[in-house]
Amino acid sequence: MPIATIDPTTGETVAEFEPHDADEIERRIAQSHEAYRALRSTTFAERAAWMRAAADLMDAEVEETAAMLTLEMGKTLAQSRAEVRKSATNLRYYAEHAEEFLTGRELDAAAVNASRAYTVYEPIGVVLAVMPWNYPLWQVIRFAAPALMAGNTVLLKHASNVPQAALYLDAIFERGGFPAGSFNTLLIGAREVEGVLRDRRVVAATLTGSEPAGRSVASIAGSEVKHVVLELGGSDPFLVLPSADLDAAVATAVTARTSNNGQACINAKRFIVHEDVYDAFVERFTAAMAALVVGDPRDDATDVGPLATSSGRDEVAELVSDALAQGAVATTGGTVPEGPGWFYPPTVVTGVTKAMRLYAEEAFGPVATVFRASSLEEALEIANDTTFGLSSAVWTQDADEERRAIAGLDAGAVFVNGMSISYPQVPFGGTKDSGLGRELSVEGIREFTNAKSVWKA
Ligand code: NDP
Repeated sequence: MPIATIDPTTGETVAEFEPHDADEIERRIAQSHEAYRALRSTTFAERAAWMRAAADLMDAEVEETAAMLTLEMGKTLAQSRAEVRKSATNLRYYAEHAEEFLTGRELDAAAVNASRAYTVYEPIGVVLAVMPWNYPLWQVIRFAAPALMAGNTVLLKHASNVPQAALYLDAIFERGGFPAGSFNTLLIGAREVEGVLRDRRVVAATLTGSEPAGRSVASIAGSEVKHVVLELGGSDPFLVLPSADLDAAVATAVTARTSNNGQACINAKRFIVHEDVYDAFVERFTAAMAALVVGDPRDDATDVGPLATSSGRDEVAELVSDALAQGAVATTGGTVPEGPGWFYPPTVVTGVTKAMRLYAEEAFGPVATVFRASSLEEALEIANDTTFGLSSAVWTQDADEERRAIAGLDAGAVFVNGMSISYPQVPFGGTKDSGLGRELSVEGIREFTNAKSVWKA
């Protein structure tokens, strides 16, 4: 795959970038390693000041950066702006809280025959981040803000279709004041990842992306005994029970399925609706999905832009065609439009059975499947009948149902009467094949630290 900006709205290649050669990769790893020695001896206050300066730059440059994100991966300009602002917010969040999150705790010294016993969280070194194109800024910042505040340095291997975002990130921390090399981008293909991860100066890795990529990086990290965090997507269930506020549930379902042009790991993908409200839900959801405006993501009227890659659109189209060929029904959408760009219409599919790929595989585009359930128990059975376990949502006004749903959903998060969203304050990550470890909040910053115990006679 070339390292290139290809506008998904037209399919045209806008810019190509020369991959880094072996010497440049070595130079950047060495620089990150040197920068780690410098960074680990700086104070939280110094790092926080640089972080805030980087956040101010991001906010000041929101328009140019948003245009670049939209050009490279096709999300609407409004959503690109929101991504830039959210990224800046996360920088400030960790600037404010890192020290508190990494202050260890006093232990019961008397119980262990010590005059004092305590824990402390220390940085570990250079961490490799393998990142996807769907939130080119946010996915990276989600990891980099806590990693840098902890005193680690970052090597980024970004997705090959978002090189301009990768180069923007390469500069932003140094521009904020961090020592040169604290954050380094490697313009490399997926094949070069193994060599970088096996380098002894690289001590850990984080990957957000597909399951095969995650399995590959995890197995290399495992063979090197290096820590790894994985965020590998999901097929999140969205349960609608009879007591739900149906208007709000439908409106939220549409956003939950189509935000980011339907290409988010935590998009709701499977809508599991109680039979008492199934017909009403399908009718209103279909109408609302059909009413969305698909088009140029730079146009303010557009709700849904193109998919980011040609192969991504093919994959979504194949999943839907396979289901329709086997008897499922598209109540709206389901056909690839004519014309340039990698557009796919908001689509609602009912009657999906286990024989269809769409039942088990993640649809990374604006395609919703709707299932009918006769009870909460059956809804939970369908919800959990997946290898994924990232996030989930349940709509009910019944306290007992809410409690049973929270306990019964096999996922890293449950949103009640709302949709899954990542917030700096809320730990984020999955169960089952959705990944390992947690990002964000206090859990996220501690992932790449050494929890050191200290015992003093
Ligand atoms: P990939 O997993 O292929 O890409 C994500 C990142 O991993 C990219 O930087 C990619 O590099 C890199 N990568 C790919 N294969 C390997 C490998 N074997 N070893 C090391 N690094 C690797 O995602 P795609 O863009 O191909 O999307 C495919 C599917 O992944 C989607 O349909 C969706 O299901 C899932 N996905 C999930 C995301 C999430 O947020 N969890 C985000 C994006 C995708 P390069 O670009 O150079 O190939």
